[in-house]
Amino acid sequence: MSYVFPPAPPASVPVVGRAERFAVHRIYCVGRNYAEHAKEMGFSGREPPFFFMKPADAVLPVNQGETGRMPYPALTKDLHHEIELVVAIGRGGSNIAAADAMQHVWGYAVGLDMTRRDLQAEAKKQGRPWCIAKGFDASAPIGPITPVAQAGDVQQAAIWLQVNGDYRQRSNVGQLIWNIAETIEHLSKAWELQSGDLIFTGTPEGVAAVARGDVLEGGIDGLGRLRVAVA
Ligand code: MN
Repeated sequence: MSYVFPPAPPASVPVVGRAERFAVHRIYCVGRNYAEHAKEMGFSGREPPFFFMKPADAVLPVNQGETGRMPYPALTKDLHHEIELVVAIGRGGSNIAAADAMQHVWGYAVGLDMTRRDLQAEAKKQGRPWCIAKGFDASAPIGPITPVAQAGDVQQAAIWLQVNGDYRQRSNVGQLIWNIAETIEHLSKAWELQSGDLIFTGTPEGVAAVARGDVLEGGIDGLGRLRVAVA
């Protein structure tokens, strides 16, 4: 096989305790998956899960103990943080039943679904796609992936985000409206999941704007921490 241009190497994320990296196939994201966040966005109740995507190369991988540098993106005056549990898919499939779904999970990471909230609000108003609000370059900072066997019980783990040392978001993954298995069941009806897919599972309440110079530090019990500076 030859190409007109040499293909870019795959986007990838470091793995805790291993030299091999996790090559990213796709990034799926779940919208409004914590009740208190749905409320702060003007919604309530258990609606069916809905999804959007970011390009695979929107990941901003950050090693444990290091601080990632995220450039403040263009076109926005309202860049929001959304701390999220990220599920890394090891084995793909379509129409995966919730009862079988956890066998498809390879590991977990702490991620940020960074959002140009002003552009998202405009897109919602106009009935336009969210790509420009959600899928911009470096919009998905992510810490190293912890393989399932080494991760704690992330389904009942504290999830939190501090900005410049102050808590902005604090909840528990147990508060997810659609849990990991249910999310995989729904998602795999719409797309064939593949090895290397990442699922950003949604953010709890407390989303807010960040400014240049802010340092974001987030964590999920049983996984590492993710530290990002907005440059
Ligand atoms: Mn999100």
